[in-house]
Amino acid sequence: MAPRGRARGSGRGAEDEGAPRRRRRLSPEELLDIVMADEAEEVEPPRVVDRSEHEVSRRDIDPDALKILYRLQDKGFRGYLVGGGVRDLMLGLRPKDFDIATDASPRQLKRLFGNGRIIGRRFQLVHIHYPNGKIIEVATFRSTGESDRVERNGELIHRDNVFGTPSEDALRRDLTINGLFYDIATFAIIDYVGGFQDLEDGLVRMVGDPVYSFREDPVRMLRAIRHATRLGFEIERETRRALESEREEILKANEARLLEEFYKDLASGRSRPYFEELDATGFLELLLPSLTATFRRRGARRGRALLQESLERLDERHARGEEISHVLGLAALLSPLIVPVTETLGGSGNEPNPEPFREALMPALERVRVYRRDAERLWHVLGAWGRLERAMERESIPKSLSRRHYFPEALDVFELLSEPSDELDAFLELGRSLPPPTEEPPEPKRRPRRGGRGRGRGGRGGEGSGGAARARGAARSPAGGAERTSSQESDGGGGRRRRRRRRRTSGKRS
Ligand code: ATP
Ligand code: MG
Repeated sequence: MAPRGRARGSGRGAEDEGAPRRRRRLSPEELLDIVMADEAEEVEPPRVVDRSEHEVSRRDIDPDALKILYRLQDKGFRGYLVGGGVRDLMLGLRPKDFDIATDASPRQLKRLFGNGRIIGRRFQLVHIHYPNGKIIEVATFRSTGESDRVERNGELIHRDNVFGTPSEDALRRDLTINGLFYDIATFAIIDYVGGFQDLEDGLVRMVGDPVYSFREDPVRMLRAIRHATRLGFEIERETRRALESEREEILKANEARLLEEFYKDLASGRSRPYFEELDATGFLELLLPSLTATFRRRGARRGRALLQESLERLDERHARGEEISHVLGLAALLSPLIVPVTETLGGSGNEPNPEPFREALMPALERVRVYRRDAERLWHVLGAWGRLERAMERESIPKSLSRRHYFPEALDVFELLSEPSDELDAFLELGRSLPPPTEEPPEPKRRPRRGGRGRGRGGRGGEGSGGAARARGAARSPAGGAERTSSQESDGGGGRRRRRRRRRTSGKRS
């Protein structure tokens, strides 16, 4: 535990009333102390579920995550396994990642773990890196961000730190089933938000007032739908109502985070039920209006059925253990717009021909704005369509095509969006038997710096950094090879370079 009883604030007495106040800048540890001591008493005690009454066993926890938890405990800190890890273990599922929360500050964590790197800006957290590329995220308990002033001995201390108590941390999470803590000291589940009961009842419910929660961070609406479809849970009534009433808030969501969530769902193996639900609840129409417009057009293999089929193929691919790149996911999602273009090409081209695709897809990418590198790759891959058709007809693949850096991915997209046939199978087999491409992919062009910080409009209520940090699906998912640390870092080149610099600096200081 962080040492208590240390200097807390400037300790001004009653005789100082009215005197001009000079505020000493407190260290993050001191602030954390104040917040934890002052707020601990006001909070309702959590439900504590004894080890004998729940399914979480240390056997199922990643050994490196366990080591971190034990080390925290040995050093006198709290060590909680949190979030989706606890949820999945309770349901007997294998968690994708094991996140940890603690009362140790990022700097203390950095000192404890040599392989730890501080990331993030306002809300810093620590990524612990392992040689196999694994990253375990350890975050200091977050405050709700609701109060930025703390009163102590009648004195108001402006609280510009973002660290909080375990209860605050639980209360700022999205769903109750994602707000449970597994305490390594007692092996008990600590539940401030009613998540234990909701897990038993199969309910997706927002922590606190769902309207407020969705307005604060609209991406949570998609997360609620994701977890309901993924787990086969019901959406609780108030949450469902708020999903309807606040639907349009989704247009205010941070673009980068929205995109990360989309990529995560496309590669989840459950993309068809998820996007079907987004369609049924009206979110797809809001986010991709030109896509849903195709559902109303006439014609064979058009619209909704095409989307469903493409997503199903994507999910089958996932089930076979094959990778789902960003571009392949986008191709499936946008298939109702892409396929009609492929039908107009008529096996013509000898040359790359991305223009008709660009024209058809650009309006769709207005609201879900893909990274430049993904868009460029998508144009390369789709631009090869005519050449692939021609090669299939001739049963021979010219080297000028197979040496292209995008050739294997172009084959994947071709397979995903073509009508199955023996001819196609033979062509794919031939293409995949060729040596890997010799051409290096081009360096992504740099995005000109935009004004302001980051590229998103940002979730409201200060969710920006921490929410991003937690919604870092792409962060640790191996899709596409590149492991980003958080969606904070998932914007264009300029932002990332700036942050890299900052991280290096903070590394030196600590
Ligand atoms: P998955 O199995 O897909 O990883 P997850 O619930 O673990 O699901 P993560 O994105 O890994 O999702 O986030 C970890 C935890 O962080 C969540 O369980 C939740 O407690 C919290 N979290 C994530 N995004 C948000 C958000 N937008 N608002 C509040 N809390 C969030
Ligand atoms: Mg997770």
